[in-house]
Amino acid sequence: MTDFPKGSVWLVGAGPGDAELLTRKAERLIGEATVVFYDALVGPEIIAMAARSARLVHVGKRSGRHSKDQGTIDQMIVEAALAGEKVVRLKGGDPAIFGRATEELDSCRATGVPVRICPGVTAASAAAASLGTSLTLRGLARKLTFVTAHARAGEDLQIDWQRLADPEATLAVYMGKAAAPEVSARLIDAGLPAETPVALVESASLPTERHFHTRLDLLPLAARTALGDGPALLLIGTALARPDRASEASPRFVERFGAFGSPVSCWRREQPRQ
Ligand code: SAH
Repeated sequence: MTDFPKGSVWLVGAGPGDAELLTRKAERLIGEATVVFYDALVGPEIIAMAARSARLVHVGKRSGRHSKDQGTIDQMIVEAALAGEKVVRLKGGDPAIFGRATEELDSCRATGVPVRICPGVTAASAAAASLGTSLTLRGLARKLTFVTAHARAGEDLQIDWQRLADPEATLAVYMGKAAAPEVSARLIDAGLPAETPVALVESASLPTERHFHTRLDLLPLAARTALGDGPALLLIGTALARPDRASEASPRFVERFGAFGSPVSCWRREQPRQ
């Protein structure tokens, strides 16, 4: 019995960017699909795994540049399945983390379309791997919180900052680049020390990956001046303390800006991988 009959949908996690971080299951499902609806953050190498005959549909959303609204995407997926296609909805990272998966699951279920999820490596895991750091720290960072700092246009961030400002937690802030000043100010107001370590990881796992170490009070400056156009994750907490000899520990990151101990330091990959 196939797990991918005609007229069904898989929400597939494409991982953080590096095609090798795709699961084997994801690769197989992409290869079996007759239509693939993919997000802006899914790279060409992964999309190329689709069959030649498959229809590839970009439904990308990047902050401020929405090309298809969620309702339209839900409808396109359902219509394709009802037309008898094998549908892959390919989403960056893990589909179940800040991926609007619920809307797509609900739309499928409401119309009787079988739908399943294939998990992916989420950005926080890829960022930790890039940094060579554990997100949890025995006795010191017992809790890992994933939070999105993306507000609907014109609305405030609806976040309980008191609950987030936990010195024993590591915070992984998704979609937090624009909100970096607010994240920094509110967490400090809520009691986190200004010198709490912060790491910013841009385009984790991709050849354009860069990362920066700074501290909570300097986060707005670092986000404004150091980050480029790529997707970026903010990691906040004791676990992100910069390793003493990070450049030796990870020799691929050779370019280091600023003297040791300066507020912002940065590494980027020596060479794009082939
Ligand atoms: N479902 C995805 C998250 C989607 S929200 C996952 O599990 O990773 C999109 C946000 O994820 C981006 O704004 C950014 O904060 C983060 N992100 C996705 N890919 C990333 C990458 N390669 N490097 C750093 N952050 C990334």
